[in-house]
Amino acid sequence: MKISVIGTGYLGAVHAACMAEIGHQVIGVDTDAGKIATLAAGRTPFFEPGLAELLQSNISAGRLSFTTSMAEATAFADVHFICVGTPQQAGSYAADLRYVDEVVTQLALHLRRPALVVGKSTVPVGTATRLKALVAKLAHVDEGPVELAWNPEFLREGFAVQDTLRPDRLVFGVDSDASEATLREVYQPILDLGTTCITADFATAELVKVAANAFLATKISFINAMAEVCEAAGADVTVLSNALGHDARIGHRFLHAGLGFGGGCLPKDIRAFRARAGEIGAQEALTFLKEVDEINMRLRERTVDVAKALVGGSFLSRTVTVLGAAFKPDSDDVRDSPALHIAALMQLKGASVVVHDPEAMPNARKLFPTLRYAASLDEACADSDLVVLATEWPLYRDADPEHLAGLTRRPVMLDTRNVIDLAGWRGAGWQVRALGRPRA
Ligand code: NAD
Repeated sequence: MKISVIGTGYLGAVHAACMAEIGHQVIGVDTDAGKIATLAAGRTPFFEPGLAELLQSNISAGRLSFTTSMAEATAFADVHFICVGTPQQAGSYAADLRYVDEVVTQLALHLRRPALVVGKSTVPVGTATRLKALVAKLAHVDEGPVELAWNPEFLREGFAVQDTLRPDRLVFGVDSDASEATLREVYQPILDLGTTCITADFATAELVKVAANAFLATKISFINAMAEVCEAAGADVTVLSNALGHDARIGHRFLHAGLGFGGGCLPKDIRAFRARAGEIGAQEALTFLKEVDEINMRLRERTVDVAKALVGGSFLSRTVTVLGAAFKPDSDDVRDSPALHIAALMQLKGASVVVHDPEAMPNARKLFPTLRYAASLDEACADSDLVVLATEWPLYRDADPEHLAGLTRRPVMLDTRNVIDLAGWRGAGWQVRALGRPRA
């Protein structure tokens, strides 16, 4: 089949490469000419394991190309996936839908033959119905309909390729048999693997995505609230969460206490969901989601307070090392990163902050140019008064505590991700504080 993927960021670049990998002819479209040139050269504009190989092999096989021209995409493809961003609006919790609206408008104006437009971006419930009306108003195609479907995406950055090629489930939000049949044809090689496929109306399909993210965020905020109780009671949240997770009804995943969630999706999606719940009068959902978000945000402030106590009650003339800038390991994504957030807060309170990350420093530098960035872990720890482990890269978890202790001014560690071996680090001379765990 001939497919266009519009918006080639984290979601779209991976989706385009994977659609080509399963045998389709794919054209990726973006307004960012630099990104398109990078992708067309078989390079990834961001860190995502396995993506470069997929880009290169499918470009070489002639199945994948890139353009900045919507006219080229509409002339080429019969199925158009919308993968543009839906960030948080400035000054509001709601999602900014201007990019999605612009793409749908441009598609409708350019299309000259029947097509299926498939939304993959995460949108507030009700968006697909509104966009369907927009397409009906703007598109003038005589030979057949321009249909719309919503097919939310659940990939995880760092595992995006495998999540796209072997997803847990596919969700098709459709309002016609023809749209469903086209989507089934697109995903046939993935359906043939036995992948669960759930067909729903537009609103339910849109909600599956935001409800899934809200549930994951809730699990994280729940265990972080338990970490607060553990600290107050002298208990150990890592043992607690392990024991809880053995209950099959609860499970271990997303039950790891730490510095909370961040990234380009969970925080803005939960806020957009909260805003939409309010708009449609779902007051209990609004109240609930607000608290999940606020527990997460307060945790960052509380962690900075713990750091301040560890450097003697004031950040002035103190050097703090922050290990990690990405919102999670195996990613260079720094959007709403808890690590960078606390780094910036500590700097504002007077600390001299040095940041290190194995992949995300170029992106971090763009967002927070006034923080200091160290080229290596050793350089980051040199003359430090406090080392804060803020993103759980294996590089930090597996570091040699004895070696690092010798580099610092004072070997004091705040493990905000609960990943280091407390006994080993304490044995190497470190004073260690871990969120939700007993103090030495
Ligand atoms: P992103 O910011 O990395 O990428 C968006 C891309 O769209 C950018 O490259 C931008 O230049 C491009 N774009 C903007 N306007 C355009 C236009 N008019 N025409 C063509 N391209 C245009 O965002 P992302 O992380 O890929 O997220 C995209 C959507 O997917 C969001 O709704 C997000 O919530 C959702 N999503 C993301 C992930 C993820 O892990 N990143 C997972 C699931 C769902």
